[in-house]
This record gives sequence, structure tokens and C-alpha cells, in this order.
Amino acid sequence: MLWIKNVTVIDPGQGVSGVNDVLVQKDKIVEVGPSFKAKEVLVKLGVTDINEVNQIDGDGKYLFPGLIDVHVHLREPGQEDKEDIASGSRAAIRGGFTSIMAMANTFPIVDQRAVVEFIKLQARRAGMARVYPISAVTKGFKGQELVEMMDIKDGGAVGFSDDGKGIQNAEIMRLALEYVKLTGCPIISHCEDEALASKGVMRRGRTSARLGLPGIPASSESVMVARDILLAAETGGKLHIAHVSTKESVEMIRWAKGKGIDLSAEVNPHHLIFTDEDITLTDTSYKVNPPLPSREDQEALLEGIIDGTIDMLATDHAPHTWEEKARPFQEAPFGINGLETSLAAVWQKLVQSGKLTPEKLVECWSLNPAQRFGIEGGTLKPGSLADMVLFDPLYKEEISTEAMESKSGNTPFLKKELQGFPVITWVEGRMLMKNRKII
Ligand SMILES: [Zn+2]
Repeated sequence: MLWIKNVTVIDPGQGVSGVNDVLVQKDKIVEVGPSFKAKEVLVKLGVTDINEVNQIDGDGKYLFPGLIDVHVHLREPGQEDKEDIASGSRAAIRGGFTSIMAMANTFPIVDQRAVVEFIKLQARRAGMARVYPISAVTKGFKGQELVEMMDIKDGGAVGFSDDGKGIQNAEIMRLALEYVKLTGCPIISHCEDEALASKGVMRRGRTSARLGLPGIPASSESVMVARDILLAAETGGKLHIAHVSTKESVEMIRWAKGKGIDLSAEVNPHHLIFTDEDITLTDTSYKVNPPLPSREDQEALLEGIIDGTIDMLATDHAPHTWEEKARPFQEAPFGINGLETSLAAVWQKLVQSGKLTPEKLVECWSLNPAQRFGIEGGTLKPGSLADMVLFDPLYKEEISTEAMESKSGNTPFLKKELQGFPVITWVEGRMLMKNRKII
């Protein structure tokens, strides 16, 4: 039994935004309402002694429905030196995420039911964030033959993606969008034309020229976004565009939504916070794919979020070992570690500066992901699972690998201070993190 008092509840799922009390019984939300009296609480929770109720003062803090991250790389099976399901799902809890979706680019690749079931088993053993596996679209990520979609869905996958690699053959993508209709799940597209991207390591532009680094043109993403939108329109298949990073992509998604095409899209916090101008040859923590955008692209991404063209925020949490990221810029792997820093970074850089409202943040990081992928969570409506985050907007922390639960520390925020962190995370009513530590 739990009674959280005087907390600012942000729950766009039921139109709540203001100071309230919240009551939880076992794993479910009982009620959200303005300042209850002790006697009422006893009746509502069905107990006789107020000492049976854990009381938390939420004054000055926010309560969000647990955040849901639809784009996470957990590296297990196969690359447990970077991350595993236990460490990644602990990092999620520490970052305020109660549900995460695990991408399929593991070793072996998640292209059969047994691997999906293994991931679910490991997540249950870890007992932290709920982990939803994403299956590959094509066997072995080869882009040639579709996986057994129905069988894999029955094993627990909630989406299909060759993320990390774009599907180059348009006919394979068309078939995938056609067959995925039987499952009700979306195809999550990593939009990248390999011939255009070639051996580029950052966005092609003035900065790449100045640094003498091979550039990736914005078109390598945008032409694939256009292709996949047209294929989704033709087939009626459900499409989700991962990590949108160019203004042309945003414009095409806006057009497609106007046409009623079954489409959603995500943007990563690092694309909203950094630009290609932040890149230096000596710091590979900024090396990410798709690459950091131009300032103009970044403005279009933010506009896309504000007007609803882009539905979701997603971290694209991509842990890599220190040794790999210590290589020269051109050789280091792409990817930013995001689960434990993203909420604080978005809060500090976008909410505090007035660019994004707390309501929009929760809509994009909890409500919309739950609805689009048909999973539990996303709201604090009575009767829903008590997945919750108590967020302290004043809490400051210097980001350090010692404090992080993730096995890797490849983030541009390392040794920098951020403000605004989750201080308690509950999954299904169980308190799993308190005062920034897993319990
Ligand atoms: Zn990707």
C-alpha cells in the first residue's frame, strides 16, 4: 500500500497535470486525486491501520507514468562485455524507464522464437524493467528472407526491425510490410541507404569538411523514409521510423500522416541536444548513427515533436566498451549510451529552457509508445499497473561510470553535471530504485 502526497502528477493519458495524491494497492493504481484525508485513504485502500500504508511526501517533485523506451540495445546474447539484459534493465530503472524494447542485432541475431524466449527469461531473472524483444525482419539481417513472423510474435516479440542495418531491397521491405499485418506489430525501419552513406562517419556538411572526415549525406536517410512511407501506403502495413534525424524526413512523415498512412516515428535525445558542430576528432562519444544533425535539421526535429509529426522520444541506448570507443574517430563504433542520462538531459536542455512541456515529454516517452506498440503502462489511470517515476527537478548529479548501472560509459555527458533526475522508480508497485540507487 502506498500513498504519495502533494506530488505534481503529469499524466496526459487522463488529462491530469497538477498537484495530487496517488494511491497504490499492490501492483495497481487505485486513485489519483487532490489531497486525500487519512480516513478516506483507509477506506479507499481497504485497510484499518494507517501504519500499513507507506507514505511518501512528493512536495516539489513530479510523478510520471514509467517511461517506455522503444529503442534499446542490450547486447545479450553475444556481447556481454558491452552490456547484458540484467545491467541494461537496471540502467533503465535508474534512468526512469519501466519498460524497454530490446533490438535484435545481438549474436545470435534475434531471428527465431527461441532467442526471443531467452531474452524474456533473462529479463524475468533480472526482475527490473519489463523487456520487450524486437525480432529481426530478415534472417541473419541479410536482407533476403523474412523471419517466421507469426511464430516469433507468439514467442513475445512486439515489433520487427533489422535496426543497425537498413533493408536495402525494396521488394523485401514491401513483403515485410505486407506480412507484418498478420501480427498487428509494426516494422521498425532503420532508414539508411548504404550506397549513399558509404563509409561516412558524421553528417556531411561544413564541419565534416573542416575536420576532414567522410560525410554521410542527409539523403541516405531521407530517401529510405520516402520509400518506406510509399510502401506502407501501398501495403497498409504498420510502419515505425526509428531515429529520425533530417528535416526532409520530418516533412515526409508530416505529409504521410496527413494522408492517413499507418505511421509513427521517434527521435533520439542526442539529435535534439547536439549538432554536427559539437563533434571533435578527439571525442568519439559523439559518434552515432544516424549522425548528429545540422542546426537546421535539429530545429525541424523539435518542431516535429511539438506539432505531433514525431510521436516518440527513444534513447537508442547503444553501449560500447571503453577500448572500442578509444579508437580513432573513423574506426570507433557508432553509438551513445543513453538510458541513465537521457531524461535528465532532455529535462535540462529542453524542458527547463521552455522548448518542451513536461506534458509533451510524458506523452512522447510513455503514453504514445504504450499505445503504438500495444503494451501496458503509459498512464496512471485507476486500475493500470503502478509503473511510476518520482522525478526531482532540482536533483543534480555529475555523470560517472562508477554510479552508472550500465557496463559502458560512452556518453558525451561523462564527468558533466546534469539537473533533474528520477529519484524513485516503481515497476508494478515494487520500488526498485531509491535516491539514485537500485534496491
Ligand atoms: Zn538504427
